[in-house]
Amino acid sequence: MKIVLLGAPGAGKGTQADLIVKEYGIPHISTGEAFRSNITKGTEIGLFVKSYMEKGLLVPDEVTIEIVSMRLKEDDCKNGFMLDGFPRSIPQAQALDKATSLDAVINIDVSYDVIYKRLTGRRNCSCGAIYHVSTYTSNNCAKCGKELFIRDDDKEEPIKKRLEVYEKITQPLISYYEKKGLLKTIVSSDAISDTFLKVKSILDTLI
Ligand code: AMP
Repeated sequence: MKIVLLGAPGAGKGTQADLIVKEYGIPHISTGEAFRSNITKGTEIGLFVKSYMEKGLLVPDEVTIEIVSMRLKEDDCKNGFMLDGFPRSIPQAQALDKATSLDAVINIDVSYDVIYKRLTGRRNCSCGAIYHVSTYTSNNCAKCGKELFIRDDDKEEPIKKRLEVYEKITQPLISYYEKKGLLKTIVSSDAISDTFLKVKSILDTLI
């Protein structure tokens, strides 16, 4: 299956993506993760994208499209993939249409209040694990023991900017995919497992 996860920052795309990978075994392509890994490794791309990300701005389309296009050409994507955080603009969606055809776009809908609380309380581990201070109080990762950190863009100013950017540049994708008959919107619940049941009921129809 070839799917896209759409939703505002903090809607829970990454969390649902992990569950989808476990259940369906498709490759998870996260542009945010790809950029963060480039920053950690100190690559040329990492140096370029850092300032955009820190400010909560989108990385320019050309760079983002190039990274995703290359990844989609890899062998493991032949039978399916899940894009998380891409596309985030109409030009990115158009580039994706040229590269492949999708089976569904899952739009995770969450209120702004909830998103704000989620992002300000989010704690990350370099192994990819994500926690929230309301349910996890340790400073170390339960999976690998490393110290947790707060993403630079999970601070107040970048969060505001990211939500603004989402409304202006990413939200138009909802009607873009609606018109194509691909959009499946689910209202996210507080319980991760309840949201996943909704996601699963859509994905099971695609198998
Ligand atoms: P995420 O981990 O998906 O929240 O992405 C973190 C940051 O990476 C975003 O705030 C953007 O700066 C950048 N980013 C991720 N995906 C994209 C994309 N598709 N287009 C442009 N910038 C992106």
